Amino acid sequence: MRLSRLALRHFRNLGSQELELPAEGVALIGDNAQGKSNFLEAIYYLETFRSFRGARDEQLVGFGEDVFRVVGDGSCGADEVGDRVQVAAAFERRGKRKKISVDGNEPERIGDALGRLSAVIFSPADVELVSGGPKDRRRFLDIVLSLNEPGYVSALQDYKRILARRNASLKEGHSASVVTAWDDGLARAGAQVIGGRRTWIQGGSDSFGDYYARVSNDARARMTYRSSVDLGGAKTAEEIQTAFHKALSESTGKDRRLGTTTVGPHRDDVLLRLDGPRDGLDLRDYGSGGQRRTAALALRLVEARTIRERRGAMPLMLLDDVFAELDGGRSERVLELMEAEETGQVVLTAPRESDVRVKKDALARWHISAGVISS
Ligand code: ATP
Ligand code: MG
Repeated sequence: MRLSRLALRHFRNLGSQELELPAEGVALIGDNAQGKSNFLEAIYYLETFRSFRGARDEQLVGFGEDVFRVVGDGSCGADEVGDRVQVAAAFERRGKRKKISVDGNEPERIGDALGRLSAVIFSPADVELVSGGPKDRRRFLDIVLSLNEPGYVSALQDYKRILARRNASLKEGHSASVVTAWDDGLARAGAQVIGGRRTWIQGGSDSFGDYYARVSNDARARMTYRSSVDLGGAKTAEEIQTAFHKALSESTGKDRRLGTTTVGPHRDDVLLRLDGPRDGLDLRDYGSGGQRRTAALALRLVEARTIRERRGAMPLMLLDDVFAELDGGRSERVLELMEAEETGQVVLTAPRESDVRVKKDALARWHISAGVISS
């Protein structure tokens, strides 16, 4: 994907600007708090229609303004005349209204417009994917799969809705038969969620190990899906559903005591380990800062690969100050890897020119100060 033009209006501190982006991408240099992450946040907004930093839409509206608007023109083909797409998003603070359009048409549901830009964002907070709790990793999986796996979003929404009902019955102290009335639906939706996540993890584990080894120039790493459900040898969706249903039945007594559903994809996790003797080292517990950052990068690279495979588009790579915690060798290898992987355009930010090393010297340098970008 190549983003050729970006028009901004009152998104955070970025004011009103219209920018033409070079085909290879750009390195945005600026001191702290000038708007570098805001710029990437604006671009990525066109991919998911929410802040990658978890900010509410209201927070994205420039201080003292009521509406922000972001419009991006991109093309997916290799050349400039390839499939063009225009994605626009606007949000009005007062009415809390969000308006999305793709090529001028409003989609029926926002979900239908997700992932049109084919972008991946690498941010300093990604390290939480490794050091954070299971919830951070589940959220990552849910976003990646929602963007790339047809049917996943609706299964996830069904799952959450039914889970909330089951939990409400548990909290209200209803009898086992009232509680388990939800189990069929929960098992069906949950099996799809578990299946989608596990397949992605299994399919991406080799690439993850490769990326990790290439960036670290050292050991490989592995990722595995750890379900709270005893899946036994379950392979197909039906088998997972049966296993999950059984697990729900078995935990009903405990669930009623605790007042919540204790088994299911909402309790699952992803293990990230360095290859080694016995089962290897858990990066969450034993990884150094740089090792965790490398593993987080590898996860994002697997995400980018998924976009390439599923959507046939070279993803737009947005790198927010990712070199801050990496040593010179690692930083260089990350950039080399990005080139070797035939990614699309790269937009990266850094506080210092010297943080943008080697080959990417070919990238145009833009500067940002108090939200104003100069090319
Ligand atoms: P760092 O190098 O520290 O990561 P940065 O250049 O990435 O800095 P950003 O996070 O992009 O900085 O921008 C932060 C600035 O944006 C802050 O000064 C903040 O006050 C300002 N800002 C945040 N939200 C808004 C908003 N809604 N309206 C106007 N300004 C905002
Ligand atoms: Mg920043």
